[in-house]
Amino acid sequence: MKLTNYKKILLNLLFKEKVYRNELINTLKITPSSLTYILNNLKKNKYISIFQENQRIAGRPKHFVKLYKDNWKSIGVRVGRESLGLTVFNGYFEELEKISIKLTKSDIGNENLPKVIKKIINKISSKEDIVAVGIAFSGKIIKNKVYSNILNLKDFEPKNIIKTLIPNATITIINDVEAIATEEFVKHGGKKILVINYGTGIGACFYESHGIYEKSERKVIELGHFHAGGSERCYCGLVGCLETVASDYANLKKYKYKNLNIKEFISNQENYENDLNEMRNLYKSYRKKAEELYKDTFDYLAIFISNMIKLLTPEKIILSGEGVSKWFVQNLEKKISSISLNPISITFSGLRNNIEYGASIDALREHILKLKF
Ligand SMILES: [Zn+2]
Repeated sequence: MKLTNYKKILLNLLFKEKVYRNELINTLKITPSSLTYILNNLKKNKYISIFQENQRIAGRPKHFVKLYKDNWKSIGVRVGRESLGLTVFNGYFEELEKISIKLTKSDIGNENLPKVIKKIINKISSKEDIVAVGIAFSGKIIKNKVYSNILNLKDFEPKNIIKTLIPNATITIINDVEAIATEEFVKHGGKKILVINYGTGIGACFYESHGIYEKSERKVIELGHFHAGGSERCYCGLVGCLETVASDYANLKKYKYKNLNIKEFISNQENYENDLNEMRNLYKSYRKKAEELYKDTFDYLAIFISNMIKLLTPEKIILSGEGVSKWFVQNLEKKISSISLNPISITFSGLRNNIEYGASIDALREHILKLKF
């Protein structure tokens, strides 16, 4: 499908929030009068707004373009093991509504999860003008079907559920770490970004951007199920997965529950919430003890991350998730640098990421590509 200048302009605005007229003339290589023609059409149909910048120095006023605030309402949904989150955005990506529902064992699975998804969408004040819905799952996405051990999903098709509630919206399904990488790219740029999400599970995504017009390459890496050794059978069926020896599950086992096994832990995770919190904050009062407890985790992660750096040569490494802290990142950096030739730098993002925002961007991109011009 050929990308028209109309779509190119909208994609620019989706990724950059605000673009100057002159930038568009230069990047699209079109004449000022053609641009004026296109912009007027887009404006007339309420796709964009055109603003004039007040300049202190005399000269021609600079014009910039933004998406029309009220015509690009979208929803980002995040489905994790602990909770289901939803945010409604306008065309400026301001958060209009934010809803979250805690999930328990009885809410997950192919049969139960649709009820909770419907419930959260029905809580939105108005569904009528929503143009795009992006849903991010902790799990594997193959051809719009979700497979997730921790959410107990197999061949799960969320599109059908959303379609019954918001029939006209463009719907996309992505992995949650993919959504984090998308957000990182939109907000902070970068060409090759490696995002590692660490908590009770370990996931990763390698995001390689080919600019605004081409679909970026996003490789979801199931880091938590890479072989690390040991004899414990993982909930995924394999033996010796990284998650069995280096995740917050493994740390918690060492910290408090010697006989814990990963299958039991994953299906009853909500029962361990307080213990996990306590453990994740241990470094604040008992630094030495925390360093000892997390030593294996840092050793294992150092091996896997330095290998990934060799393989993918990322220019930016982001560490996100509820299991990480500044202390965690510093220790991991130290460990990796001690086994590498060059010091490496990891950006701590913790829970700052807005998975809903990343999911929403993904759905709006698809929506723009589907528009008829
Ligand atoms: Zn596994």
